[in-house]
Amino acid sequence: MKYEFASDLQMRMYEIASLLGMGHVDTDRVKCFRSYGSSTKRTIARCHTIGKLMQKAIGVKAHYAIEFLEKFEKLSREEQDKTIIHELMHIPKSFGGGFRHHNFVCEKNVDLLHQKFLNLKGMG
Ligand SMILES: [Zn+2]
Repeated sequence: MKYEFASDLQMRMYEIASLLGMGHVDTDRVKCFRSYGSSTKRTIARCHTIGKLMQKAIGVKAHYAIEFLEKFEKLSREEQDKTIIHELMHIPKSFGGGFRHHNFVCEKNVDLLHQKFLNLKGMG
């Protein structure tokens, strides 16, 4: 696996999180990466974090990394934005190193936030 920091996706993530008022997301502690060489063909993106015990062991606060796999590049702009929204929604209000799960991060809720994003951008 190879990982590259994705400054363009980092900017899109900032824009989405701030427009949608995701105040609990500390965007300085969310980093976007592109990954290459994964054997997983179906996955578009995934959210990683560092658990509470390892935070204590290393002496750092919670951080999240959003990994965008090669398949992400083939999506339309709209589907890419939805993917970024989906991954941000996995970050809980506590920003503590856990995740919200797919009962909340579901297509319906992603679509609602995506529509809100378009409206706020004046494209709805
Ligand atoms: Zn998910």
